[in-house]
Amino acid sequence: MQQPIVCLDPGHGPGTVNGSPDGLYKEREFAWDLSQRIRPLLEARGIRVAVTRSEHTKPGLAERAQCSNRIGADLFLSLHTNAAGNGGWYSARGFLAYTGAPGAEAGRNRAAAAIRDRMRAAGVVIHGSGLAHNGYTVLVKTEAPAVLLEYGFHTSREDAALLKDGAYRNKLAEATARGACDFLGVPWESGPDGGLRERVQARFGLSAATMDYLEAYPYGGDLLDKLARAE
Ligand SMILES: [Zn+2]
Repeated sequence: MQQPIVCLDPGHGPGTVNGSPDGLYKEREFAWDLSQRIRPLLEARGIRVAVTRSEHTKPGLAERAQCSNRIGADLFLSLHTNAAGNGGWYSARGFLAYTGAPGAEAGRNRAAAAIRDRMRAAGVVIHGSGLAHNGYTVLVKTEAPAVLLEYGFHTSREDAALLKDGAYRNKLAEATARGACDFLGVPWESGPDGGLRERVQARFGLSAATMDYLEAYPYGGDLLDKLARAE
């Protein structure tokens, strides 16, 4: 594969009402914002990124698939959050990836599983197995392996609180980008800091929570650099 291409599809757009029952969380804003957090993580690793919409546009579903088909994307990711019930708060929670049809060997399902696994490793709550199938237009009309990612239920009080949080969005963006890299065969370590976090974590056998703590420290970057070089 030369330079892989990922097509990001932030769900919905202006005028759509999908969001938390208290009105404080909007799916369209989350989807756009998350696409802008995922994009640089992929680009830093030499992946070309196309986005199906701008912040203020709402293309049709077939148009979104067409955007991916036109550029010959290697992976299509539609970004969403889920809803349960019919108004009000519900208990259903967690991350769920949809593909158009089963088949463990199919690219769409390998990609979905890779992202699901990275979500689980990052400590994100997973809904059931985290994998499901549905004939959504953007999944069946897209030629590239296509996955629709539901990053949580905005009808859950717990999930909605997390989905509004910038640090949590960064975690989701990184897990998505890592899963995409796993699927595309792009080493995460090819990123700008040479996978500093991963090297330190592996070398000292630290937990993800400890790594988050170290990175949040004011001189965390320098500290990680020293730890990675220490004899
Ligand atoms: Zn949606």
